[in-house]
Amino acid sequence: MLRRQFMKFGVAAGFLTSCAGSKNLIKSENNQINKIKPNILLIFADDLGYADVGYHGCKEIPTPNIDAIAKNGISFTDAYVTAPVCGPSRVALMTGKYQQFIGCGSNIGPYLRTPDVKLGLPLEEKTMADRFKEAGYKTACFGKWHLGGEDFDLNQQDKSLFPLNRGFDDFFGFLEGAALYNDLTNREKKYMRGNERIEREEEYYTDAIGREALDFLDRNHDKPFFLYIPFNAVHAPLQAPEKYRKKFPHIINKRRKKMAAMLYAMDLNIGKIMKKICKYKLEENTLVFFISDNGGKPNDNYSYNTPLRGEKTTLWEGGIRVPFCMQWKGHLPGNKVYNHPVSTLDVLPTSLSAAGIDIKEEWNLDGVNLFPYLSGKDTDQPHEWLFWKYIRQSAVRYKNWKLLKLSDDQQPVLYNLKDDLGEKKPVNNKQIFDLMMNKYKEWDKKTIPDNFGWNRTYKYTIPGYTE
Ligand code: CA
Repeated sequence: MLRRQFMKFGVAAGFLTSCAGSKNLIKSENNQINKIKPNILLIFADDLGYADVGYHGCKEIPTPNIDAIAKNGISFTDAYVTAPVCGPSRVALMTGKYQQFIGCGSNIGPYLRTPDVKLGLPLEEKTMADRFKEAGYKTACFGKWHLGGEDFDLNQQDKSLFPLNRGFDDFFGFLEGAALYNDLTNREKKYMRGNERIEREEEYYTDAIGREALDFLDRNHDKPFFLYIPFNAVHAPLQAPEKYRKKFPHIINKRRKKMAAMLYAMDLNIGKIMKKICKYKLEENTLVFFISDNGGKPNDNYSYNTPLRGEKTTLWEGGIRVPFCMQWKGHLPGNKVYNHPVSTLDVLPTSLSAAGIDIKEEWNLDGVNLFPYLSGKDTDQPHEWLFWKYIRQSAVRYKNWKLLKLSDDQQPVLYNLKDDLGEKKPVNNKQIFDLMMNKYKEWDKKTIPDNFGWNRTYKYTIPGYTE
């Protein structure tokens, strides 16, 4: 029923098409959708700030292929990740749960809450890949994992935390939070295929990730797939070959120029991937997401978050509000902007719903299926409330209100984002303040201390770890 409405909506809105024809075109009236399982393509950028995509107004760096996803589908002005840093943001994306409910509120670090804790997403948690694999999908992850199994100087890698044990059939990438983009001598020894280290990677790493995605599509275009591409671009270190840097003679700052080249390379590879989707006539059978995992860090990776305040690691909007767009030709309208808050928590339930996979109550997902809201069937907001907690910071979003606490010794401050997107003018409204404080306390009761992280007050450390 919902899907039928969606088709009507899509047709009424005149969705754009750039690929001619589609062998997997889903007809709205014959209820074929569950027989043809749509593919899921989830592209996750790293530390890409709100300002640095063309469709948000970036003029300095062209991102035509990312912009095309927004143009062919829906872009979100108020899309949030659940953390202002990489690891915990990925936990929520992959599980559909607030990471604080499962002990993963911090990046993986050497300090442990209990001596026997595994450094990664707890094994009892199912990932998005687990869910799709159970439904008969071919699954792959190409890029930065950062959900467990990393070496941490000790050479005691726990393969149970590797992608191949978390629902993915194929993996090419690295397990850590960052890696070199040009490591011809494999100095870092981080690059992997499957469960094993590889000796050498000759291509610029963003191009290598793109290459693997194209190869995957050549091999698997005839079966339903969940393809997760967590590019490490544009996370530090700032490295890009001359062939990409030379595209930006107008950018004087050398670091910003490198970031621009890194972003350009990612966009170029996204274009190749989308072209391949077109080649196999899968556009109308593929739900595509493009999202960044947290905000940019202007003095580190030179990605900007304007007009938002703050940056990566902070709970100002600049740390947690990100570029987020999705397309599904023939099913979602084109060129639509959606303004209510959404979250990366929603990616899993939205994708499962697209695939006709039932979501069970006992999974305790915190995200929601966005389709009823995007179709206009449900005119409420997908999330009346969103919450954040990261080390000593906390934040709440309720309608246009934002309550933000930046440290233990600071009182929470209330902002109205509708009038004050840059979070510069604190508002006095005791009723709203109390309502939001109480709701946060309720939510916080469900959180548990981080299993691991960089919190030195924890009693245990990884055996052998020295600072
Ligand atoms: Ca990141």
